[in-house]
Amino acid sequence: MPRNSNQLYTDYTTLLQKAADINYASAVLGWDQETYMPPKGAEYRARQLATLASMAHEMLTSDKYGKLIHELSQAPDLNDTEKSNVRLSLEDYERNRKLTPEFVEELSRQTSECFNAWIAARKQNDFSLFAPSLSKMIALKRQQAEMYGYKAHPYDALLDEYEKDATVEMLDPIFNGIKQQLPVLLKKIKEAPQVSNECFHRNFPKEPQWAFGIDVLKQMGFDFEAGRQDYSEHPFTTSFSSTDVRLTTRVDEHNYASMLWSCVHEGGHGLYEQGLPEEQYGLPLGSAASLGIHESQSRLWENCVGRSHDLWKFFYPKLQKYFPDQLKDITAETFFKASNRVEPSLIRTEADELTYHFHVMIRYEIEKELITGALDPKDLPAKWNELYYKYLGIAPKDDKTGVLQDVHWSHGSFGYFPTYTLGSFYAAQFFDQAQKDIKDLKEKISRGELTPLLEWLRDKVHKHGRRYTSEELCQQITGQKLDPQKFFRYAAEKYREVYGIDL
Ligand SMILES: [Zn+2]
Repeated sequence: MPRNSNQLYTDYTTLLQKAADINYASAVLGWDQETYMPPKGAEYRARQLATLASMAHEMLTSDKYGKLIHELSQAPDLNDTEKSNVRLSLEDYERNRKLTPEFVEELSRQTSECFNAWIAARKQNDFSLFAPSLSKMIALKRQQAEMYGYKAHPYDALLDEYEKDATVEMLDPIFNGIKQQLPVLLKKIKEAPQVSNECFHRNFPKEPQWAFGIDVLKQMGFDFEAGRQDYSEHPFTTSFSSTDVRLTTRVDEHNYASMLWSCVHEGGHGLYEQGLPEEQYGLPLGSAASLGIHESQSRLWENCVGRSHDLWKFFYPKLQKYFPDQLKDITAETFFKASNRVEPSLIRTEADELTYHFHVMIRYEIEKELITGALDPKDLPAKWNELYYKYLGIAPKDDKTGVLQDVHWSHGSFGYFPTYTLGSFYAAQFFDQAQKDIKDLKEKISRGELTPLLEWLRDKVHKHGRRYTSEELCQQITGQKLDPQKFFRYAAEKYREVYGIDL
């Protein structure tokens, strides 16, 4: 006698939640590795993480699980939430099964090798030490794209891993728009008198930086009973459930911008994780929609709210209390302008809100060519420098500040970069909609009332988990597809205020 759908669904959630227990336990180890682990712990930690990863992978690709999920996908009497979970789990399962265990192992081995080669190449400031390993990685990624399958472009298969349904066909017009519109904006900004950001580079001691960061996070609505913040070399957010979300930040006593913006940025990621439905723990609807949507949350808080004039009307007098000497001669106006200074630079992670998208576009163009084979990895530095000069008017003097700056390729993460630009664009479009939906949002922000915005995000984005794709979510929230013009309009408005020019 066939088992009923209820029993099947219970078996399914039990199995998936056990796999999630393992994955979240790895996340705890991963978080510790980046924050508190002493150096000698590295060797066994890598081993522990590998063991847990393979245990979870085995569970989620087993024939037993496959049979269960197929059977459940035919069950007639599931509710909408259950159906969504099962549909997404089946997609994940089928995708995972397309890769043979031998391939997964080879990719994992190559990732370690490639990462080590990248570290060594950076140390020596010499791309040629990284090139052979990267070539092997690219060959594997091409193979992976073939295994996954694609309709139009092999890069689509890789993009899908980070941003479901994103394609070259969808992204090309977005990046072409950047190519056409951004230079016009930048030219006008360049012709205007430059704003100073000197006020960020005074001496800002560690403790008050930390304390103010915590104040900001609390005001944003981050729940410290369900999360915490610690130090790490590279800021990141991770979570072990929606009730335990970890943020990290770094402090530079001579560059206050470093901690302040990373704190707000990671805070935005953290609020999303805390807002995912707790009752869907370990199931697709309990996880984030996509990397692009995740990034839309961090950038909405960092750029649309954090770097807005309105927010500093509320926060600046408080900030001055933390740093009375450092900021006594700086007005809120000057601070706001300094927060939004635009200047072409070589390092992506330090770029301003506008030129940032050239950094992403350059990587996107290069990745497409690497995956199709149009670009030989050994010619990468020349290509990189050529594109930087073409779009940003500057070229790196060495590999470290050029082609070797990001870790992504050494991890085999091809198709990841475009999600940063998508995130900014979704953020601008969501924030535009929030201003329509929430009465006097800007005035509220200027009084430090951030709860209405958080509640709006909870309702429109967070509570849905993975139920909708990015595009569906955008359509549902704003009534239209992703429209890059929303970003350009948002930018024109902001830089009109910062540079006093007509854009
Ligand atoms: Zn982010």
